Amino acid sequence: MTTTASPDILAPPQVLLAHHLRQLKLPTFLREYDKVAAEAAREGLDHSRYLLRLAELELIDRERRMVERRISAARFPAVKSFDTFDFAAIPSLNKPLVLELARCEYIVARDNIIALGNSGTGKTHACLALGLAACQSGFSVTFFTAAGLVHQLMEARDERRLLKLQAQLAAVKLLIVDEIGYVPLSQTGSELLFEVFSQRHERGSTVVTSNLPFEEWTTVFGNQRLTGALLDRLTHHVHILELNGESYRLKKSKARRRIDPHPADETADPETGEITPAS
Ligand code: ADP
Ligand code: MG
Repeated sequence: MTTTASPDILAPPQVLLAHHLRQLKLPTFLREYDKVAAEAAREGLDHSRYLLRLAELELIDRERRMVERRISAARFPAVKSFDTFDFAAIPSLNKPLVLELARCEYIVARDNIIALGNSGTGKTHACLALGLAACQSGFSVTFFTAAGLVHQLMEARDERRLLKLQAQLAAVKLLIVDEIGYVPLSQTGSELLFEVFSQRHERGSTVVTSNLPFEEWTTVFGNQRLTGALLDRLTHHVHILELNGESYRLKKSKARRRIDPHPADETADPETGEITPAS
């Protein structure tokens, strides 16, 4: 790799500068230096203030790029924040606690969060928003559904790369495991998931959501002793979020029906009555 130029004396300085700024990974410097120079001339800034302004722009941009990188590494199914979360719709949820958690100090303390509640009450939305806040505060995040994580663990075990995946899962600052409870796990699946929680215990924060109260977790893990040991670890330092109430989707579709009682192209879930527009 050539870092110091063997300057071609015929090359204009802009070409060399562009090369060096790319090598130094200062894209904002490169993009902005002409524009900022014009500003500096207009405002009568001296050269150190000119450089300071460029350095500040580079820093702000670098931070933004790093947040974006953390968000894409987290593999969120959607990017959601508390800005679009309607706390009034879910009175059982402790809003001051949620806002406090969004400051991410629990990650420094390596505490866990468990969000419990029936379907459609905003558990996934809330854990995505916590994940986004963590990315914005500089923490690495990985999102999985419980079923997805178990699938990945089994696949890694079959392909003899389980240790590597376990090490990655242990190292991330915040692991989010959504939807414990919808799918009963096999014995191997339960044991692999238990090991993940065990390895993170007091080393990193884990956010878990479930539609089942703790008493019913044995139906997912199939084994009372393992469920007990798992809950013991998860709830050692934990903040519990309760989201019990009417499904937000159901409430919205009822509200839509009040406005338009015969909307075209929609289907109702025969079990829940939840209405989905067929789009
Ligand atoms: P759960 O994971 O509890 O089943 P979700 O988080 O998937 O529920 O919520 C279902 C849908 O309703 C999502 O699109 C979510 O963004 C929205 N939603 C749920 N609760 C709220 C809320 N309090 N404010 C805004 N949107 C909400
Ligand atoms: Mg969900």
